[in-house]
Amino acid sequence: MKKTASNADIWTRCEGYIKAASDYVRVYGSHESPAAEEGIMAHGVAEALIRVMAKDGNPTPKVPDRWAGSVIPVDMKIKCRDYAHFCYSLMRRSNVYGGKYLWVEDEIESTFLADGLMTRVDFAIYDPSVRTLHVLDLKYGHRVVEAEGNAQLLIGARSIIDSIDVPVEKVTMSIYQPNGPNASMPLDQWTADTLSVMEMTNDIRQMYESDGNALRPGSHCRYCDARGTCIGLRHAVYSAWDVVAYYNHIPEELPADRLEDMLAEMETFRDLLRAYQTGLEALCVSRLKRGDVMPKWEYTTSLTDRKWAHDEADIIELGKSMGIELEKRTVVSPKQAELAGMPKELVDTLVKREATGLKLRKKSLKTLKQAFQ
Ligand code: SF4
Repeated sequence: MKKTASNADIWTRCEGYIKAASDYVRVYGSHESPAAEEGIMAHGVAEALIRVMAKDGNPTPKVPDRWAGSVIPVDMKIKCRDYAHFCYSLMRRSNVYGGKYLWVEDEIESTFLADGLMTRVDFAIYDPSVRTLHVLDLKYGHRVVEAEGNAQLLIGARSIIDSIDVPVEKVTMSIYQPNGPNASMPLDQWTADTLSVMEMTNDIRQMYESDGNALRPGSHCRYCDARGTCIGLRHAVYSAWDVVAYYNHIPEELPADRLEDMLAEMETFRDLLRAYQTGLEALCVSRLKRGDVMPKWEYTTSLTDRKWAHDEADIIELGKSMGIELEKRTVVSPKQAELAGMPKELVDTLVKREATGLKLRKKSLKTLKQAFQ
């Protein structure tokens, strides 16, 4: 296992990750993830659409029914189409449809880290009129990934800045996550000036060059193969456990500032526990496969939701022959309408939001800074 852009969000936070994960994979194998195959298909479908849009200037190409011989699920077609529309809106705004300022699923050399180290960029475009580079990452998983400070996006951005000979003043980095918890708002964006990007990626370079082995547990552990056997995570979990078990807080008597600290601590504990639990599950599966006997547990194949295994048109025709209407027409969400080109001002006049109750929300660092200015 090596340090790459795609695992940078772990090795930039835990120096010991590469060694620990390599040792784990050598003994127990890598964690299996059916979601990874879905992600590969979604990237392939989106790339095909964006390339047609860029070549023909056609913002609404037909989404293919199959990719690499497999039927593309209907929901994936819609999500890939919306993502491609967003990419197309950037092409239109930049008036760039190809050539040296457009990158679609391209490998770019990250020379600032190491000669020959390649970083895949899902979509990037340079807008010469405002000297802005946009870098996008399509995440097809369900876990929330944030754009701000995202090491993978930063490495992609820096690799492009180093490879082009035009001035870049700003970089807008985006995570497009159609399966996240807020699917109607799939886009998370963060803009930084180029100097900040250079400083942050210089820090990343230092971490890339470091051969330290310190284990630094945190929320990133949930992506680490070694999480079921990692002694650093185990100690962190037991420390958290001690705090919960031995400090008998009475929440209603705590001062407000202590109560909010306690809530933040609980969030951290939950992340650590969840990472350790899923790591132990993977370890149990590996050991059961190797022949260990665990009377209370067995492993089965995890399956995705049912999807049509035939072309949609054939399914719809079959339904018609049986007198059953299987074709559903729906209007896209307001956010997707904006991504498709409907002006936000118009969309705002056509939507409504209703209060459903009160919920607690963490203030962003930006909001906190403004509050103290
Ligand atoms: S589980 Fe966490 S602390 Fe342990 S090696 Fe992985 S990332 Fe580091």
